[in-house]
Amino acid sequence: HDAPAFIKSQIRTIPDWPMPGVQFRDITPLLQRPKTLRVLIDLFIERYVEAKLDYVAGLDARGFIIAPIVAYELNLGFIPIRKIGKLPYRTVSESYSLEYGTATVEIHEDACQPGERVVIVDDLIATGGTMMAGKKLLERLGAVVVEGAAIVDLPDLGGSKLLRESGLPLYTITDFP
Ligand code: IMP
Repeated sequence: HDAPAFIKSQIRTIPDWPMPGVQFRDITPLLQRPKTLRVLIDLFIERYVEAKLDYVAGLDARGFIIAPIVAYELNLGFIPIRKIGKLPYRTVSESYSLEYGTATVEIHEDACQPGERVVIVDDLIATGGTMMAGKKLLERLGAVVVEGAAIVDLPDLGGSKLLRESGLPLYTITDFP
């Protein structure tokens, strides 16, 4: 009955990966068993079944695992927001800063039409930079970004606060303070 607590209990923490000091929250155990995958996807479905969405967008790469399943079940299309250099057609791009250096994500310029309603899905929100870039890309296409959604929030990194302050509602299933 407490689906979020069940989801949290199935996330695996890998110490010092990909570098010393990082506690990597690994969502692959949620994908591995039918029961956990179903509980996970059903939380997103319940959240968005009445949201009158046009698309579910996914952030490269782990958002690509979750978002298309949600889109399929809601009978919607899927929009990939990819790391630079992967999309073949004309793109719009956004760069953002990381702890060391910058990252760039892209969307096809015809991915959606002005006024269409989109939710952005990823596995985890840390500094919020990736989700913020996704929001900006969709807004440059004229989309209405209804909400950002992720399995995990790392609230101490401040990303979810920043995103909410920027006017993006967020849905996260669990957090690791
Ligand atoms: P942000 O842009 O700093 O919010 O970082 C979020 C992005 O980095 C997401 O696309 C995540 O997939 C990835 N990420 C950062 N930390 C973790 C983690 O502990 N587990 C899984 N993904 C992570």
